[in-house]
Amino acid sequence: MIECPSPNYNKRTDSIDMLVLHYTGMKTADEALDRMCDADAKVSAHYMIDMDGEIFKLVDESKRAWHAGIAFWRGNTDINDRSIGIELVNKGHEFGYHQFPKAQMDSLISLAKEILAKHSIPARNVVGHSDIAPTRKIDPAELFDWRRLAYEGIGVWADDALEANKSYESFKDMLAIIGYNTSSKATTVASLTAFQRHFLPNHINGQADSVTLARLKQILKLT
Ligand SMILES: [Zn+2]
Repeated sequence: MIECPSPNYNKRTDSIDMLVLHYTGMKTADEALDRMCDADAKVSAHYMIDMDGEIFKLVDESKRAWHAGIAFWRGNTDINDRSIGIELVNKGHEFGYHQFPKAQMDSLISLAKEILAKHSIPARNVVGHSDIAPTRKIDPAELFDWRRLAYEGIGVWADDALEANKSYESFKDMLAIIGYNTSSKATTVASLTAFQRHFLPNHINGQADSVTLARLKQILKLT
């Protein structure tokens, strides 16, 4: 396990109640590590997990890391202050998005379980970067296996058959209750797409259609 050479991360002022998952979106793990250990880059996360499952501990959990950026979840905007950030090595959409290997997911699951055992993080607050910054970010995106995580007790997932639903007007309210930013029309559309990327990865169309509404209702019941 390596640690970054003590950059000046600040102590938190809030307690930890969120877990935010990312992909690195860089060509190599080394490049991502260099960037996250460079205090001047102002990009960091508490952990990075390589594709072979190796876990790098980069920032102490008691400190804030710079991973969320401008973000929103359930009314909170200072997400770095209340969250733990985990970066998964993946080239991302810019350099060649690919499956998250089993060894990487296995390590993520054991690390996330340790984190959830230590801190009071509700399932609804286990999110992707795109959930909290839907207009700017898409990571960890559609190949990330949220379903497997939820089956391991990490986060929320719904697998039931989708019921048809004709009522379209409440999608914004449902997104807001789950936690998404719906402060403007553009943000709401981005949030809807982020919701699909997380909970309907085979159905990303930005449309408030019946499939999306049915899933929104299911997730709402679980959060
Ligand atoms: Zn990210």
